[in-house]
Amino acid sequence: MDKKALLEQIEKSVNRCRNCRLFQGTMNAVPGEGNMNSELVFVGEAPGAEEDKQGRPFVGRAGKLLEHFLKDIGYNREDVWIGNIVKHRPPENRDPLPDEIHACQGYLTAQLEAIDPKLVVTLGRFALNYFDKDGKISRDHGVLRNVGSRVILPLYHPAAALRNPSVMEELKADFKRIPDVLRTIKGKGLQKPVGAYEFQTGLGI
Ligand code: URA
Repeated sequence: MDKKALLEQIEKSVNRCRNCRLFQGTMNAVPGEGNMNSELVFVGEAPGAEEDKQGRPFVGRAGKLLEHFLKDIGYNREDVWIGNIVKHRPPENRDPLPDEIHACQGYLTAQLEAIDPKLVVTLGRFALNYFDKDGKISRDHGVLRNVGSRVILPLYHPAAALRNPSVMEELKADFKRIPDVLRTIKGKGLQKPVGAYEFQTGLGI
């Protein structure tokens, strides 16, 4: 099956997903969207109110900030692929529970397999912990690492930056490094990882 058909099939499954309680009381699932051929994928936590209304990721305040940062490094949101680890909005925007994250896990894994980006930028601690259960966002943000078959760059969540000016500064600085990081990954052929949950890259970036 080609990439487009595969992603459409995953989207259909997400839209009718009843694997956990979260679909109850939501208006829409939010499967993810964007350029399926992008080298760059952004992964957030879960949809909020506006995302639930529109069925699209990062279209609320955090999304506007993400778009602003993307513009700063020369991308429109349509240029990249954007998704979440959890596809239905948790009630009152509470944190997703471990069993909800687990129930949703296969969708993002399948989407990333189909897209096969060079770099996955995780936004916030839940997205980091999806790839590295021992990751700590305050320690690991901005540090490129291999996790299984993926290269990830953990960043703070834009919503956290909207609440905290010092997080905003950190996020701004980390975000600006994405083009260089991407160039380095491509230049050094870093797509061949050694194993799951291991090391930082040692590239000095
Ligand atoms: N926050 C997220 O983590 N994802 C969204 O789609 C919107 C806000």
